[in-house]
Amino acid sequence: MSKNPALFYTVEVGDSTFTILERYQNLRPIGSGAQGIVCAAYDRETDQNVAIKKLSRPFQNVTHAKRAYREFVLMKLVNHKNIIGLLNAFTPQKSLEEFQDVYLVMELMDANLCQVIQMDLDHERMSYLLYQMLCGIKHLHSAGIIHRDLKPSNIVVKSDCTLKILDFGLARTAGTGFMMTPYVVTRYYRAPEVILGMGYKENVDIWSVGCIMAELIRGGVMFPGSDHIDQWNKIIEQLGTPSQDFMKRLQTTVRNYVENRPKYPGYSFEKLFPDVLFPPDSTEHPGLRSTMARDLLSKMLVVDPEKRISVDEALMHPYINVWYDDSEVNGPSPAAYDHTVDEKEHTVEEWKRLIYEEVMEYESRGKQKASMQSHAVPDGANNDTPAMDSVGSENATQNHCR
Ligand code: AMP
Repeated sequence: MSKNPALFYTVEVGDSTFTILERYQNLRPIGSGAQGIVCAAYDRETDQNVAIKKLSRPFQNVTHAKRAYREFVLMKLVNHKNIIGLLNAFTPQKSLEEFQDVYLVMELMDANLCQVIQMDLDHERMSYLLYQMLCGIKHLHSAGIIHRDLKPSNIVVKSDCTLKILDFGLARTAGTGFMMTPYVVTRYYRAPEVILGMGYKENVDIWSVGCIMAELIRGGVMFPGSDHIDQWNKIIEQLGTPSQDFMKRLQTTVRNYVENRPKYPGYSFEKLFPDVLFPPDSTEHPGLRSTMARDLLSKMLVVDPEKRISVDEALMHPYINVWYDDSEVNGPSPAAYDHTVDEKEHTVEEWKRLIYEEVMEYESRGKQKASMQSHAVPDGANNDTPAMDSVGSENATQNHCR
């Protein structure tokens, strides 16, 4: 396919150079991650503000490539109001040989959850944010995607209190985990079964939601471990040493380590989350009280996944089900994701071709779908759902908590 170079222009943003379609104007940086810089921009064609993420040489190493490929394919596949949607994708390069960068154009949100953690939220806002996280997670699960790495920097919100999950977490084969970037991977929100290398099921993601809820209430990270070992210590010091039944399910070497830790009784949830930390009880919704919030926390922050609440149970919990809407909870499932591609070992050159082919396929066939999406009525909150006025102010999307 021949590409019209006149459609592209180059602009410097921070330390990065964006070569993007003319339709995208007024770029300003709003965040950065391991993959590169994210900018807000104005789309002249749809008269809409968008976010553009540049994936620089996504095939530079196998870890980057797998992540970029997975993210792109899944973004094309998934369609739910609580998962970030792809509006457009392109590369300015004209051939596989020249191929360097991918630009992903997404819906623009106002802030990531790190900024929301600094705010004092009432129960309405807190429970509405949690409800939307659970709806998004349930949708991912319906496509066979278990996230395992949900964290505040990868969840974005708008001032109308709508929420979207930005990424798709860990691939089933996570590789070596070795990555040559200056970014420190945040592990604070990873479940015990991930830290301890056990098998996992869908409710692995409930642990992360529990950690995020705890942080919204406390204003600080619940389990700020400096590494896997310290992370485990932080968990058992607060929640107590798990049962023998749990220990029995660990691999021998891990079990030896875990069993030889000092025994901790843990604290009650009344001690971990005293009344003073909570906003006043809602006068409108009987479920939106501190006792209910604490009850939900005590069912999510459970070390043993066999005793932890499921996503469906969490959605039915009185603190959450005030917002229950069947079309949001049980929306149509996306086509199941074929994990075999990212489970295979590919060389960097193979990844380059795979990613390039996906972008080409999108550029030729995805455009029609993308323009339909971008002209759709934006999905705002229901009339009676809460808003967050102070989100989206200047610099709100600067990422402080990676
Ligand atoms: P990522 O590279 O996807 O990890 O994103 C890095 C940061 O950029 C996030 O933590 C957000 O602060 C910001 N960001 C990414 N995508 C968007 C978006 N669609 N809308 C608003 N902010 C975003």
